[in-house]
Amino acid sequence: MSVKIGIIGTGMIGEEHARRITQQLTGGEIVAVTDVNLDQARAVVDRLGVEAQVYEDGQALISADNVDAVMVTSWGPTHEEYVLAAINAGKPVFCEKPLATTAEGCRHIIDAEIQAGKRLVQVGFMRRYDSGYQMMKAAIDGNRLGEPLIVHAAHRNPEVPERYVTPMAIHDTLIHELDTFRWLLDDDYKSAQVLFPRKTRHAHSKVEDPQIVLLETVKGVRIDVEVFVNCKYGYDIQCDVVGEEGIARLPEPQSLQLRQAGQRSNEILMDWKKRFGEAFDVELQAFIDGVATGELKGPSSWDGYAAAIAGDVCVKAQESGAIEQIDMPERPAFYA
Ligand code: NAD
Repeated sequence: MSVKIGIIGTGMIGEEHARRITQQLTGGEIVAVTDVNLDQARAVVDRLGVEAQVYEDGQALISADNVDAVMVTSWGPTHEEYVLAAINAGKPVFCEKPLATTAEGCRHIIDAEIQAGKRLVQVGFMRRYDSGYQMMKAAIDGNRLGEPLIVHAAHRNPEVPERYVTPMAIHDTLIHELDTFRWLLDDDYKSAQVLFPRKTRHAHSKVEDPQIVLLETVKGVRIDVEVFVNCKYGYDIQCDVVGEEGIARLPEPQSLQLRQAGQRSNEILMDWKKRFGEAFDVELQAFIDGVATGELKGPSSWDGYAAAIAGDVCVKAQESGAIEQIDMPERPAFYA
């Protein structure tokens, strides 16, 4: 029996996820969609050729009898309301990042989920499902590097639009690293500092670019992340974990090596959707399987909350230029 899924928000990633579930993954089907732009929701149903009902709004979709599970892929500020409604209806919910736009909003979700007495939320931190990061995690957990000491990382995009402003380097871009390193190192953050190097001429006036984020973890690991969102040359994710006994480097995406016209070259991807395409597949299959077996795994509300707290402090550090403390509340046993 397949899991009947309702999607709230049929924009770019909502349509991609619906297409994955319909054409690539197993065990799930799209039976309901909604969007503030109902015409767009209808167009997505037509393009996918699915028999899904278009609902007036997210609340109606969540309460529909034939919807077993909900996917929230609408704009960030709407996530909290829909995730809370899904929890209150006792339905499992996959929520794209961010879980909520404030740490307080994430806390409301945690309180509701604990009250429900069952894990109902999976957050869309798809890097945990990327095969390269999983290899790194296995090497660290298998003690092949000894204790991790330092992480050097970079998150580079070819370019960003005019509406992308300085704090978005944290809330939209670094948020993935903030989740990934907690998971990779099995650690939490203690402090953050943000440095602004010389600005690239390719950045518009409202974004400082590039930025260097320096994080310190509770175990004492030092992390430097270059966020460079107008790097022009490609979408490029780099990560080296330096341990006592060795170094693990995130594998480059597979690409053909060309020897031609006196050059040896490999293509660099330009599009994040291609870079993490397989990770999105594995992530959503895990959600469908988790709903089917009644046991959701993967990034939890607590992980969404932890990333939000660290993100807020990073934005404060952007503004102050100082080293800012990150105080994580104690993790409830529910999320152990
Ligand atoms: P988008 O603008 O293409 O789509 C968002 C859709 O939500 C739009 O169609 C909009 O009409 C709809 N919407 C807005 N308010 C709504 C409401 N109240 N009810 C129903 N629908 C509503 O944006 P996107 O790029 O698809 O991003 C959507 C979410 O996914 C964002 O939170 C974004 O951060 C996240 N995202 C995550 C990743 C990732 O790497 N995991 C990548 C891209 C986007």
